[in-house]
Amino acid sequence: MIIVKVGDEERAECGVCEAFRTVSYQLRDVPFDDGSGVVKNVIAGVCKTCDSVAVIPFQSVPAIKKQLQIQRKAVESRVPAHMIDLLNMASAELGATPDFVPLLLKYYIHHLASSPEAAMRVVTMLTSELATGMANKRLSLKGREIGNDIERLKNLSHIDNTTELLKGVVLTIHNDLLVNPDAQRIALLKSFVATVA
Ligand SMILES: [Zn+2]
Repeated sequence: MIIVKVGDEERAECGVCEAFRTVSYQLRDVPFDDGSGVVKNVIAGVCKTCDSVAVIPFQSVPAIKKQLQIQRKAVESRVPAHMIDLLNMASAELGATPDFVPLLLKYYIHHLASSPEAAMRVVTMLTSELATGMANKRLSLKGREIGNDIERLKNLSHIDNTTELLKGVVLTIHNDLLVNPDAQRIALLKSFVATVA
């Protein structure tokens, strides 16, 4: 197998130009064929005429497949039963039904993964007495970005275990909506409920 390096050039067929062109290997974000997402920073052959990705070298395929799996896989975990109750209560506080729980979780995971400071709140919450208990209720989250958001939050919080991470997220939601109500966050979530309900 020929291994290409960033900066290498060769002639290849460009699908956009519909002609043989000089391509230069560069780090690019490559969209999946079905448009369901992008793989970030893989070596791809970029057409020097039209600047579109003309060639994906074989060496980049495993990285792309791995990313695809992360993006497609539902996140499955088990949490203590009272965590589900806390989520249902938080949902009710927003005027929503338990159907809103997966969206609430996804919103919060995305929000907490947005900065190191936000992510560290999850760690703090895990010291709560409420963080203990037998993990006996299933929690499933589906969606294109949820896998990436969870990976990002794991990196920022240094919590590798998905169950521990989700417990910390649930307790953060419980804190912000019920224990120490964050009026701004609640208003934002209420408008979100009104939009999706
Ligand atoms: Zn081209």
